[in-house]
Amino acid sequence: MKNEKDISRNVQKRIFQEANSRCSFCDESEVATLQIHHIKARTEGGGNEIENLILVCANCHTKITSGIITEADILRKKIMLLKGKTEARSSSASQNSIILENSSNAGVIANTITIKNPKKSSIKMQPPQGTIAADRVKRNYIKYLIDTYHDYKKKDQNVEKMNYAIFYETIRKRFKCKWDFVSEEKFEELAYYIQCRIDGTIFGKLKRKRGSRNYSSLEEYLTEI
Ligand SMILES: [Zn+2]
Repeated sequence: MKNEKDISRNVQKRIFQEANSRCSFCDESEVATLQIHHIKARTEGGGNEIENLILVCANCHTKITSGIITEADILRKKIMLLKGKTEARSSSASQNSIILENSSNAGVIANTITIKNPKKSSIKMQPPQGTIAADRVKRNYIKYLIDTYHDYKKKDQNVEKMNYAIFYETIRKRFKCKWDFVSEEKFEELAYYIQCRIDGTIFGKLKRKRGSRNYSSLEEYLTEI
Protein backbone atom coordinates (compact mmCIF):
# COMPACT_ATOMS: atom_id res chain seq x y z
CA MET A 1 0.00 0.00 0.00
CA LYS A 2 0.94 3.56 -0.64
CA ASN A 3 2.83 4.62 2.46
CA GLU A 4 4.54 1.46 3.46
CA LYS A 5 7.54 1.61 1.23
CA ASP A 6 8.67 4.67 3.15
CA ILE A 7 8.59 2.82 6.46
CA SER A 8 11.84 0.98 7.13
CA ARG A 9 11.70 -2.80 6.99
CA ASN A 10 12.82 -2.96 10.57
CA VAL A 11 9.96 -0.75 11.73
CA GLN A 12 7.47 -2.68 9.60
CA LYS A 13 8.65 -5.90 11.21
CA ARG A 14 8.31 -4.47 14.69
CA ILE A 15 4.80 -3.19 13.96
CA PHE A 16 3.78 -6.68 12.83
CA GLN A 17 5.41 -8.22 15.90
CA GLU A 18 3.80 -5.72 18.22
CA ALA A 19 0.33 -6.68 16.97
CA ASN A 20 1.13 -10.38 16.70
CA SER A 21 0.55 -10.09 12.92
CA ARG A 22 -3.13 -9.45 13.48
CA CYS A 23 -5.38 -6.46 12.95
CA SER A 24 -5.21 -4.44 16.15
CA PHE A 25 -9.00 -4.04 16.15
CA CYS A 26 -10.65 -7.19 14.85
CA ASP A 27 -7.87 -9.81 15.06
CA GLU A 28 -7.92 -10.44 11.31
CA SER A 29 -4.75 -12.38 10.49
CA GLU A 30 -4.92 -12.62 6.70
CA VAL A 31 -1.61 -11.03 5.74
CA ALA A 32 -2.83 -9.74 2.38
CA THR A 33 -5.33 -7.45 4.09
CA LEU A 34 -3.02 -6.07 6.79
CA GLN A 35 -1.90 -2.47 6.45
CA ILE A 36 0.08 -0.02 8.51
CA HIS A 37 -1.94 3.02 9.51
CA HIS A 38 -0.38 6.37 10.44
CA ILE A 39 -2.06 7.47 13.67
CA LYS A 40 -1.23 11.07 12.95
CA ALA A 41 -1.51 11.47 9.19
CA ARG A 42 1.67 12.26 7.34
CA THR A 43 -0.04 15.23 5.75
CA GLU A 44 -0.41 16.54 9.30
CA GLY A 45 3.21 15.97 10.13
CA GLY A 46 2.97 12.40 11.44
CA GLY A 47 6.14 10.39 10.98
CA ASN A 48 7.17 6.80 10.33
CA GLU A 49 8.21 6.00 13.87
CA ILE A 50 6.77 3.03 15.74
CA GLU A 51 4.75 5.22 18.10
CA ASN A 52 2.85 6.69 15.15
CA LEU A 53 2.05 3.40 13.41
CA ILE A 54 -0.49 0.66 14.03
CA LEU A 55 -1.34 -2.56 12.22
CA VAL A 56 -4.89 -2.76 10.87
CA CYS A 57 -6.81 -4.75 8.27
CA ALA A 58 -8.28 -3.09 5.19
CA ASN A 59 -11.75 -3.28 6.68
CA CYS A 60 -10.82 -1.53 9.90
CA HIS A 61 -8.78 0.98 7.92
CA THR A 62 -12.01 2.01 6.19
CA LYS A 63 -13.68 2.31 9.58
CA ILE A 64 -10.89 4.62 10.69
CA THR A 65 -11.23 6.77 7.58
CA SER A 66 -14.94 7.07 8.10
CA GLY A 67 -14.71 7.76 11.82
CA ILE A 68 -16.45 4.60 13.01
CA ILE A 69 -13.19 3.77 14.77
CA THR A 70 -12.25 7.05 16.43
CA GLU A 71 -8.84 8.53 17.05
CA ALA A 72 -9.37 7.89 20.75
CA ASP A 73 -10.00 4.20 20.03
CA ILE A 74 -6.78 4.07 18.01
CA LEU A 75 -4.71 5.76 20.67
CA ARG A 76 -6.08 3.55 23.39
CA LYS A 77 -5.29 0.47 21.35
CA LYS A 78 -1.82 1.69 20.47
CA ILE A 79 -0.95 2.34 24.07
CA MET A 80 -2.08 -1.15 25.01
CA LEU A 81 0.06 -2.56 22.22
CA LEU A 82 3.03 -0.55 23.38
CA LYS A 83 2.46 -1.95 26.82
CA GLY A 84 2.16 -5.43 25.31
CA LYS A 85 -1.27 -6.12 26.69
CA THR A 86 -3.38 -8.03 24.23
CA GLU A 87 -6.40 -8.01 26.49
CA ALA A 88 -6.82 -4.48 25.21
CA ARG A 89 -8.62 -6.05 22.30
CA SER A 90 -11.70 -6.64 24.34
CA SER A 91 -11.55 -3.53 26.47
CA SER A 92 -14.32 -1.01 26.35
CA ALA A 93 -13.93 1.77 23.87
CA SER A 94 -16.13 4.19 25.69
CA GLN A 95 -14.00 5.56 28.50
CA ASN A 96 -12.26 8.76 27.64
CA SER A 97 -9.16 8.73 29.70
CA ILE A 98 -6.59 6.11 30.46
CA ILE A 99 -3.77 5.98 32.89
CA LEU A 100 -0.31 4.94 31.81
CA GLU A 101 2.17 3.68 34.28
CA ASN A 102 5.89 3.58 33.57
CA SER A 103 5.42 3.92 29.90
CA SER A 104 7.67 5.61 27.47
CA ASN A 105 5.25 6.54 24.79
CA ALA A 106 5.27 10.28 25.10
CA GLY A 107 5.76 10.30 21.36
CA VAL A 108 2.19 9.31 20.62
CA ILE A 109 0.45 12.52 19.78
CA ALA A 110 -2.51 12.82 17.49
CA ASN A 111 -4.13 16.08 16.66
CA THR A 112 -6.98 15.70 19.13
CA ILE A 113 -4.98 14.22 21.91
CA THR A 114 -2.38 15.66 24.19
CA ILE A 115 -0.37 13.62 26.59
CA LYS A 116 0.27 15.44 29.79
CA ASN A 117 3.08 14.61 32.11
CA PRO A 118 4.43 11.50 30.34
CA LYS A 119 5.92 10.02 33.52
CA LYS A 120 2.58 9.40 35.15
CA SER A 121 0.19 10.53 32.58
CA SER A 122 -3.40 10.45 31.59
CA ILE A 123 -4.61 11.09 28.11
CA LYS A 124 -7.16 13.82 27.78
CA MET A 125 -9.28 14.05 24.72
CA GLN A 126 -10.19 17.45 23.58
CA PRO A 127 -12.00 17.95 20.31
CA PRO A 128 -10.34 20.67 18.25
CA GLN A 129 -11.69 24.15 18.96
CA GLY A 130 -14.11 25.51 16.39
CA THR A 131 -15.16 22.11 15.09
CA ILE A 132 -18.57 20.52 15.33
CA ALA A 133 -17.08 17.95 17.69
CA ALA A 134 -16.40 20.72 20.20
CA ASP A 135 -20.10 21.59 20.38
CA ARG A 136 -22.04 18.68 21.84
CA VAL A 137 -25.45 19.83 20.66
CA LYS A 138 -24.35 20.40 17.08
CA ARG A 139 -22.40 17.18 17.03
CA ASN A 140 -25.38 15.19 18.30
CA TYR A 141 -27.72 16.84 15.82
CA ILE A 142 -25.45 15.94 12.89
CA LYS A 143 -25.15 12.41 14.23
CA TYR A 144 -28.95 12.25 14.47
CA LEU A 145 -29.23 13.30 10.81
CA ILE A 146 -26.63 10.75 9.70
CA ASP A 147 -28.44 7.99 11.63
CA THR A 148 -31.74 9.05 10.09
CA TYR A 149 -30.19 8.89 6.64
CA HIS A 150 -28.96 5.36 7.34
CA ASP A 151 -32.38 4.31 8.67
CA TYR A 152 -34.08 5.49 5.49
CA LYS A 153 -31.40 4.01 3.27
CA LYS A 154 -31.88 0.67 5.00
CA LYS A 155 -35.59 0.82 4.19
CA ASP A 156 -34.76 1.68 0.57
CA GLN A 157 -32.42 -1.22 0.14
CA ASN A 158 -34.33 -3.59 2.36
CA VAL A 159 -31.14 -4.92 3.87
CA GLU A 160 -30.22 -5.70 7.43
CA LYS A 161 -26.51 -5.07 7.11
CA MET A 162 -25.48 -1.93 5.35
CA ASN A 163 -22.14 -0.37 4.65
CA TYR A 164 -22.16 2.67 6.92
CA ALA A 165 -18.69 3.68 5.84
CA ILE A 166 -19.88 4.81 2.40
CA PHE A 167 -21.87 7.83 3.57
CA TYR A 168 -19.21 8.86 6.10
CA GLU A 169 -16.68 8.71 3.30
CA THR A 170 -18.93 10.82 1.04
CA ILE A 171 -19.11 13.50 3.73
CA ARG A 172 -15.37 13.32 4.29
CA LYS A 173 -14.67 13.86 0.60
CA ARG A 174 -17.14 16.70 0.27
CA PHE A 175 -16.07 18.57 3.41
CA LYS A 176 -12.41 17.55 3.23
CA CYS A 177 -12.36 16.09 6.72
CA LYS A 178 -14.11 13.71 9.07
CA TRP A 179 -17.75 14.67 9.67
CA ASP A 180 -17.33 15.96 13.22
CA PHE A 181 -14.13 17.82 12.41
CA VAL A 182 -16.00 20.05 10.00
CA SER A 183 -15.66 23.63 11.20
CA GLU A 184 -18.58 25.06 13.13
CA GLU A 185 -19.04 27.72 10.49
CA LYS A 186 -20.01 24.97 8.10
CA PHE A 187 -22.48 23.37 10.50
CA GLU A 188 -25.52 24.62 8.62
CA GLU A 189 -24.10 23.64 5.27
CA LEU A 190 -23.37 20.13 6.56
CA ALA A 191 -26.80 19.78 8.18
CA TYR A 192 -28.51 21.01 5.01
CA TYR A 193 -26.48 18.61 2.88
CA ILE A 194 -27.49 15.59 4.99
CA GLN A 195 -31.13 16.75 5.11
CA CYS A 196 -31.16 16.88 1.30
CA ARG A 197 -29.69 13.39 1.16
CA ILE A 198 -32.42 12.15 3.54
CA ASP A 199 -35.12 13.81 1.43
CA GLY A 200 -33.55 12.19 -1.62
CA THR A 201 -34.02 8.63 -0.38
CA ILE A 202 -36.97 6.70 -1.75
CA PHE A 203 -38.43 6.34 1.75
CA GLY A 204 -37.90 10.06 2.35
CA LYS A 205 -39.72 10.98 -0.86
CA LEU A 206 -42.64 8.72 0.03
CA LYS A 207 -42.95 10.24 3.46
CA ARG A 208 -42.95 13.74 2.07
CA LYS A 209 -45.61 12.80 -0.47
CA ARG A 210 -47.79 11.72 2.42
CA GLY A 211 -47.21 15.08 4.02
CA SER A 212 -44.84 13.92 6.79
CA ARG A 213 -41.48 15.39 7.52
CA ASN A 214 -38.29 13.43 7.46
CA TYR A 215 -36.37 14.97 10.33
CA SER A 216 -36.57 17.58 13.07
CA SER A 217 -34.97 20.98 12.78
CA LEU A 218 -32.21 21.73 15.27
CA GLU A 219 -34.66 23.65 17.46
CA GLU A 220 -37.20 20.83 17.43
CA TYR A 221 -34.46 18.30 18.06
CA LEU A 222 -33.41 20.25 21.16
CA THR A 223 -36.89 20.19 22.63
CA GLU A 224 -37.21 16.48 21.92
CA ILE A 225 -34.10 15.42 23.78
ZN1 LIG B 1 -9.58 -5.26 11.39
